[in-house]
Amino acid sequence: MESFNELNISKQLHYAITDLGFEKPTPIQAQSFSVIMSGKDMVGIAQTGTGKTFAYMLPLLQNLKFSKQVHPRIMVLVPTRELVLQVVEEIEKFAKYMTVRVVGIYGGTNINRQKEAVAQGTDIIVATPGRLYDLIISRAIQLKTIKNVVIDEVDVMLDLGFRFQLTNILELLPDRRQNIMFSATMTDDVNKFIHDFFIAPTTVSIAVSGTPLDNISQKAYRVKNFYTKANLLKHLLKQKEEYKKVLVFVPNKKMADLLFEILEGVFGDEVAVIHSNKTQNYRLRSIENFNAETTRILVSTDVMARGLDLHKISHVINVDTPNFPENYMHRIGRTGRAEQEGTSILLYTEKEAEAKKAIEDLMGLKIVEIDFPEEVEISKQLTYEEQPKVVEINNPINVEDVGPAFHEKKEKNRKENQGGSYKRTIKQKYKKPKTRGDKNYNRRKKGR
Ligand code: AMP
Repeated sequence: MESFNELNISKQLHYAITDLGFEKPTPIQAQSFSVIMSGKDMVGIAQTGTGKTFAYMLPLLQNLKFSKQVHPRIMVLVPTRELVLQVVEEIEKFAKYMTVRVVGIYGGTNINRQKEAVAQGTDIIVATPGRLYDLIISRAIQLKTIKNVVIDEVDVMLDLGFRFQLTNILELLPDRRQNIMFSATMTDDVNKFIHDFFIAPTTVSIAVSGTPLDNISQKAYRVKNFYTKANLLKHLLKQKEEYKKVLVFVPNKKMADLLFEILEGVFGDEVAVIHSNKTQNYRLRSIENFNAETTRILVSTDVMARGLDLHKISHVINVDTPNFPENYMHRIGRTGRAEQEGTSILLYTEKEAEAKKAIEDLMGLKIVEIDFPEEVEISKQLTYEEQPKVVEINNPINVEDVGPAFHEKKEKNRKENQGGSYKRTIKQKYKKPKTRGDKNYNRRKKGR
């Protein structure tokens, strides 16, 4: 698309665009506009820097009519306080020539001031899920007027453990609403989330173009299981001259910790790990050390690897084979940048062969297969996930006697399965007036 004139937008928005100096819509903006205008649910796969904030705000602002009503009509959910501030600031720029009220809601600051801001009336709320939920249950924010919900950086939110809060909030929203989400990566968690809350969404994906495949030499080893992958990894990483700066991808936090422990045993300080359960300080230190090349090996999950300095990574090693081929493209795009040669290595099991084929189909090329080195030990040890599962019929174990993890899971399942009635429970819990009857009910519950 050559110009914003090709989009049907108001004069006020045009003026703002001119002020901002934007010449033409970015690809995600051009593709999202008509979908969002139509009111359909949308899933956008795009990273920060692609102009995604404006991609959803432009059509939403175009559709937003002036109103004096107190309760908000648009809700934008983001993972961090910094993003709340940034998105609020952007919206204020886009809506410079419109009369639009925007309020940012985030934790770690005075809740009463945020309550007051909301009470004065707002059109758009930009919030982190935790604080927003606090304001909802204290009835400072009403959700019944919400027409459009944007959930930005869903992959990061789910990785940070916001799923429960997101679910609670979405369950309280009116059924007739438009859901829009953006995620940089497609993960199993994100996929499940879409499945649970979105209705026939249109997916707008910015092709992973620009990944300089020519500069990346891609190799694959067929490996028996996880512990054998770890053995092969140790073998490869011992070649320090060649493996100068290595980014090792794992599918989740658990694997990250497990692999880190194994590698640390051999390589000590040369290896670091990042995932969302590590503290911010720890993550920053790991990244800093990796960028400064004081650590040679960094173990990371997909979500956390964003924001890393991409220069001079000699190898990207995929310990698992991503189910979504685009994730593989993102991973290997971390090496082979700017005229430098990089190597990507994929370790795949028999089970992962299909996912590997999907990746090859997407790229239109076959990854070079390397023979498994004879000197590397093939482990017989299996991770919990790899062990064959025995389904016991008539399990004699008394559920009450099983440890806390089992209880937790049961609770969670019960909530998920209840669907509509869960929403009722929440409503009952937070909206019931405090009458005598209510107190008696609570007392009865306690007495049980
Ligand atoms: P985002 O992906 O939303 O974080 O946006 C990245 C940056 O691109 C922001 O600083 C925007 O102001 C800027 N931007 C958004 N849309 C355009 C556009 N059409 N042309 C030029 N810059 C843009």
